[in-house]
Amino acid sequence: MFDLLVVGSGLFGAVIAAEAKKAGKSVMVLERRDHIAGNVYTEEIEGINVHRYGAHIFHTSNERVWEYVNSHARFNRFTNSPLARYGEELFNLPFNMNTFHALWGVVTPDEARKKIEGQIEEVKRSGIREPKNLEEQALLLGGHDIYEKLIKGYTEKQWGRKATDLPAFIIRRLPFRFTYDNNYFDDRYQGIPAGGYTRMVEDILKDVDVKTGVDYLKNRNDAEYAAKMTVYTGLIDEFFDRCLGKLEYRSLRFEDEILDTPDFQGNAVVNYTEYEIPYTRIIEHRHFEPENDRASASRSVITKEFPLEWDEGREPYYPVNDEKNNALYGKYQELANKEKNVIFGGRLGQYRYFDMDDTIDEALKLADRIL
Ligand code: FAD
Ligand code: UDP
Repeated sequence: MFDLLVVGSGLFGAVIAAEAKKAGKSVMVLERRDHIAGNVYTEEIEGINVHRYGAHIFHTSNERVWEYVNSHARFNRFTNSPLARYGEELFNLPFNMNTFHALWGVVTPDEARKKIEGQIEEVKRSGIREPKNLEEQALLLGGHDIYEKLIKGYTEKQWGRKATDLPAFIIRRLPFRFTYDNNYFDDRYQGIPAGGYTRMVEDILKDVDVKTGVDYLKNRNDAEYAAKMTVYTGLIDEFFDRCLGKLEYRSLRFEDEILDTPDFQGNAVVNYTEYEIPYTRIIEHRHFEPENDRASASRSVITKEFPLEWDEGREPYYPVNDEKNNALYGKYQELANKEKNVIFGGRLGQYRYFDMDDTIDEALKLADRIL
């Protein structure tokens, strides 16, 4: 019997498994995909580390988490500065002086503030004061022009729902600033692990036994995997056979192309903010690691991300944290609390929009608590 069985080899599972091993416990990790690392998995194509499940940029202000990842990988100085394309127009993201200049020709922060304050006043005059949903939040942050060109179309195709039916917190993730700074994140630290995320997760798991291609839920009564304690990082509703109903998730379809050009778009991430274009963004992977000298000199790998509703058989990437789903999750949590020897963790187990650093932080805190 193992001291700890960990279900899932994403960041949450990898970190808790490695910490348990360090604390002298016997540990086994089960992973149903045919590879480790969950959604941060990268694989090499044309010498380029391709982010298999969408662009992953590590950013954090959490000292402990930053130290932790740096003990398992060397990070480069990549700074995410995505572009937004709307028709033939290009804008810098996040919303900053470059964006405001391209939208309205304003040059100084003062001019930009006046323009935005004018638009926000209009929004308030229409009766919106406390944001009840994503649309109202976006309008109160930046007014109509930004909302219509850069937020509405992207958000509604990403989530497959009207912006008026989505929670406001989703858009509060994005900085809004009055300097000419295109850095997408406000965090103190940022970068990409040299050689890709898979190598970093391999390093985290180097002393731990892992079995890939095994679905825990199909084998949960198997004596081979008996354990005193289980940390489960899969879908919480699936664990309970969806007995209270299905939680909703958003999925994605990734379409790769290997192009006979060394540089397709000159940037790692370009968002397509029009609703009519079926993908949300194009990722050009070579730009995440410009220092990678294994990368093909003549070819480039790009990936288009097409958002989809999740259904069984697809990967669940984003929890849909609206009121209805959060209430259902609360009921599953009550069931989870009755499971004395199972702890639910990670983006799927806790049904939360965790970034990588939040995920690692949660796993380290769990280690503090149980080990
Ligand atoms: P996962 O990576 O989903 O791992 C869970 C693992 O459990 C999976 O490998 C799954 O196969 C396995 N599993 C599930 N059920 C079972 C079962 N029954 N048996 C065995 N195994 C099972 N964060 C950032 O900080 N920066 C970014 O730029 C960023 N970009 C993102 C882009 C996209 C498209 C997505 C979807 C997420 C992004 N994130 C980003 C968030 C980041 O991916 C997550 O924080 C992190 O990967 C969560 O790790 P996890 O271990 O909780 O989940
Ligand atoms: N968003 C947007 N326009 C953009 C980029 C993002 O409206 O060009 C909105 C969208 O609703 C998205 C949210 O901001 O879901 C958060 O964006 P982020 O880039 O953090 O999304 P993630 O990396 O999690 O996909």
